[in-house]
Amino acid sequence: MAKKIVLASGNAGKLREFRQMLEPLGYEIHPQSEFKVTEAEEPFGTFVENALAKARHVSRQTGLPAMADDSGICVEALGGKPGVLSARYAGDPKSDERNNQKLITDLSGVANRRANYYCVLVYVRSADDPQPIIADGRWWGTVVDQPKGTNGFGYDPYFFVAEFGKTAAELSPEEKNACSHRGQALRTLMEKLA
Ligand code: IMP
Repeated sequence: MAKKIVLASGNAGKLREFRQMLEPLGYEIHPQSEFKVTEAEEPFGTFVENALAKARHVSRQTGLPAMADDSGICVEALGGKPGVLSARYAGDPKSDERNNQKLITDLSGVANRRANYYCVLVYVRSADDPQPIIADGRWWGTVVDQPKGTNGFGYDPYFFVAEFGKTAAELSPEEKNACSHRGQALRTLMEKLA
């Protein structure tokens, strides 16, 4: 029987990526929306604290094992920003388009375009699990001014990956999962779970 995990996220792009990677391994990923979970606070300044808070919150409300990720893009010339604030870089309501416009404006005239996507994944068996499983992953690229591609989500059309000579939004889901921050973190998490 498939093992149920509730994903502490309402992001359709992330749900798709987690399903693609975990379903072949016998896991059933259920979005938190199926359980009418209230949105968790993400008040912390670090990815790991936010991910842990989200995982515990969802597990407490559903009574099931939960997995949460906290991720974002950290731009070298901006001192690591938008970082933990990536989803709402241009303010509320969340908008990928306005976030990308703000990023490009902030980087106008800046030569150093190095950035990394960073992801922390936390798995808890129960809300008070004293031994959460934690894994992380980092994916380097450069921020370009002209968007390309329609795959992925968020900052992907502006995130250029030198190994492929393409933006993340031009990669197939399989190509992205093979090297992305989330893919790396998930493979590490799977090894730890096993
Ligand atoms: P979180 O839901 O608080 O983890 O916010 C993550 C935010 O970081 C997303 O809303 C995106 O803006 C950005 N982000 C994280 N991972 C990716 C990715 O793989 N592609 C594009 N943007 C990403």
